[in-house]
Amino acid sequence: MKALVFQGPGKAVWTERPRPRIQAPTDAIVRITKTTLCATDLRILKGELPGVVPGRVLGHEGVGQVEELGAGVTGLRPGDKVLISCITSCGTCGFCRKGLCSHCRDGGFVLGHAIDGTQAQYVRVPHAETSLHRLPVQADEEAMVMLSELLPTGFECGVLQGRVKAGDTVAILGAGPLGLAALLTAQFSSPAEIVVVDADEKRLDVAQRLGATHIVDGEGDTAQRVLDITSGAGVDAVIETGGLAGGFDVCQSIVAPGGRVANVSSHGTATALRLERFWASSLTLTNQPVQAVSTPTLLKMVQSGHLEPAKLVTHHFELADAKRAYETAAAAGGEGVLKVILSNE
Ligand SMILES: [Zn+2]
Ligand SMILES: [Zn+2]
Repeated sequence: MKALVFQGPGKAVWTERPRPRIQAPTDAIVRITKTTLCATDLRILKGELPGVVPGRVLGHEGVGQVEELGAGVTGLRPGDKVLISCITSCGTCGFCRKGLCSHCRDGGFVLGHAIDGTQAQYVRVPHAETSLHRLPVQADEEAMVMLSELLPTGFECGVLQGRVKAGDTVAILGAGPLGLAALLTAQFSSPAEIVVVDADEKRLDVAQRLGATHIVDGEGDTAQRVLDITSGAGVDAVIETGGLAGGFDVCQSIVAPGGRVANVSSHGTATALRLERFWASSLTLTNQPVQAVSTPTLLKMVQSGHLEPAKLVTHHFELADAKRAYETAAAAGGEGVLKVILSNE
């Protein structure tokens, strides 16, 4: 088979690799039909995640068809259309049973990281029963691949951790794919107002089309402009998705007493926490990587038409053209690029 293989910082090649084989009775081999890439893949390609060694097949998101199953997998059949979760979970360890699947003792974020990933014609998925989701035959594969990681992250780490509820005023910092995923899923809870902040005008236009009631560009005193929208009161929940210089400081300045700051982005550097303000204003700060426990809920929302993640897809490539897809995604700022789809046809 062919796969996109990491070969050290800045280097990846589309090359021949042995087709993966069943290694444990709980494994599945999935033939990839659609995959995508995210900011983490871009960081891996730059060599910023030391756990990814040269020779690793990249990618942790995808939709495909079950090709082969280990003897212990009873809930899936060859030929099933499946969504591959970015989080591999055994379903039985203490962390999985607490819903903390990213900390699974025999899984977590392993695809395209500790084991070979999804930017390939075939992938081996461990713990198939609890790491794959069977899809209806007629499912829109491009929409579904947004549920491997992007939508669960925006929903779980942003909306649920931020406890967004009916009537709230919500601010979302960043209108990249993650901010827009939070924007789409925040609307499940019917907040009264959603303010989206980003420096990229094209992305703000998309945010407005997808339900933002107010947009704030990167000009001037961003925090003050958000406060002005709330007549100085501040917002009930702020979801920080990165991409804005000094974003966390803005979060701390715009949150109302009793409010929540849901930090979604993985800040690469130390950031000052104004703990005195958190105490004095009864604020809550939440942090977590995605656990991908909301995927079944999101699948239902897509199937019912209440969630349309295909709106985040802007570019299409053949899987064999994966390197060009990386270049396109890396140049995203100002180019109108949100999510790219890679097809293995
Ligand atoms: Zn990712
Ligand atoms: Zn586990």
